[in-house]
Amino acid sequence: MNQLRIVGGTLYDPANGVSGEVRDICIDGGRVVDSVPASARRLDASGMVVMPGGVDIHSHVASGSVNLARRLLPEEHEADPAAAPALTGGDVARSGTGGTIPSTFTTGYRYAGLGYTTVFDAAVAPIMARTSHGELDDTPIVDAGFFVLMGNDEYLLRLVAAGERAQAREYAAWLLGAAGGYAIKVVNPGGVELWKRGARDRVGLDTPVGSERVTPRAILETLVEAANGLGLPHAAHIHCNDLGVAGNVATTLASMRAVEGRRAHFTHLQFHAYDAAPDGTRRSGARPLIEYINAHPEISGDVGQVMFGAATTLTADGAVEYLLHKSSGRRWVNVDIELETGCGVVPHTYKEKNAVSALQWVVGLELFLLAADPWRMVLSTDHPNGGSFLAYPELIRLLMDRGYRDSCLARVNQTLLAGSAMADGIGREYTLDEIAIVTRAGPARLLGLTHKGHLGPGADADVTVYARDEDVSKMFATPRYVVKGGTLVVEEGQLRRAPRGQRLHVRPGYDGAVETPLREFFDRHATVSFRNYPVGDLRDTPIMVGRT
Ligand SMILES: [Zn+2]
Repeated sequence: MNQLRIVGGTLYDPANGVSGEVRDICIDGGRVVDSVPASARRLDASGMVVMPGGVDIHSHVASGSVNLARRLLPEEHEADPAAAPALTGGDVARSGTGGTIPSTFTTGYRYAGLGYTTVFDAAVAPIMARTSHGELDDTPIVDAGFFVLMGNDEYLLRLVAAGERAQAREYAAWLLGAAGGYAIKVVNPGGVELWKRGARDRVGLDTPVGSERVTPRAILETLVEAANGLGLPHAAHIHCNDLGVAGNVATTLASMRAVEGRRAHFTHLQFHAYDAAPDGTRRSGARPLIEYINAHPEISGDVGQVMFGAATTLTADGAVEYLLHKSSGRRWVNVDIELETGCGVVPHTYKEKNAVSALQWVVGLELFLLAADPWRMVLSTDHPNGGSFLAYPELIRLLMDRGYRDSCLARVNQTLLAGSAMADGIGREYTLDEIAIVTRAGPARLLGLTHKGHLGPGADADVTVYARDEDVSKMFATPRYVVKGGTLVVEEGQLRRAPRGQRLHVRPGYDGAVETPLREFFDRHATVSFRNYPVGDLRDTPIMVGRT
């Protein structure tokens, strides 16, 4: 019944060393298998490109800040109404809205329509986790999970202040399970807490946060050690201090050195790779950053590419949004979330003729084009911060087609580009293999998803088939077929089925002794009771955690 043979496609499966070979893919019961009987349904992929389904390591699709942003931008809903897709079979089809932050159902449909089958929301406040699970329940097709914000968590900071790093690790394990999250997220460690206390100065790695013992450095060390000590499938996922600021590449490099030798993932690095010119303006700091990453195999990153056009910036880094609101005059939301984190939202438009937008666009491309190991520098736009996930095909074209890239470069504001690697000229063009790495195989490996990002026997049957086109942005924007978990969801370029996706989460074991003081802390300080805080059992079983 669920058997399928995808016949005659040209396969790009870099995790299994397959590069452009004509091979059939056989699917049985949601998994890739060696063979299926001759009676199995056949899908003709002759002349087409076959890859594993896309895996988005860093996006924002289901969180308190995403919902605030939806409410902040009603004009986007009006401008981009999304009709219910014409699904076959019994799947419920829902209408919705698009724009930079589509509604839940439309998010699932559009990701699948792009050939993406796995998505992670990168920033969920644990107190809002139940809402995020509700939203993901309404985001069909894609397998999804989220990262849990811990870098400004009051209880964690208290443990760091007390020098209780082992207890901090146990608390992190408890919190991940309580929220039903997948990985530890760190946003502007300590800086969000200082912002909530009214501080407006820049935060350095050694700035005290209340106690002298609590510094961004100490928080980073604690949470990187927790992720590694707990054997989590994904490293601590780090958004550094000083996002967006001239000269912040020094902070980013110092943060990497602070955890040198330990597995860590640094996210949307484009926003953290600015040097400062003598006059204080930003210029590209991509080169020293990528050189450091190239030389340190324990470090991985995603780019956070800026794409020209409409975006919505939303982050737990409330201070950044305040600065953006002040400089752009666009509307602004700030929320201080009790005991845990912050949140800010500001809509933004990246313009070719704007000097800072042009610099950001260039810095992101430099990170891609100077990366020695695409497995460790993967694709993201930090959707919807640097641009929508719908811009990925255009980004792929920029990476694969130097002529096109150079023609775009010639159009943009050149004010801040002097001395950058892009201005000097970069000849590199990504191959289809490298695109398969940065959009699926690499993210899956960095996330520890052993069943995803490849099409070897036993892998999840998440497959995308693209019809070749001279213009690769067209090819990647409209896959001919998408198979999710063995179900053919896109057929002849049309979304036809919308099965529910799996929830990807972990529930690490922890020392039960952590709960007694925690219960007391909740009684004293939280508006939610300790008992009501955890989201409870989820429908899908947790991913195994290999604690050492
Ligand atoms: Zn993000």
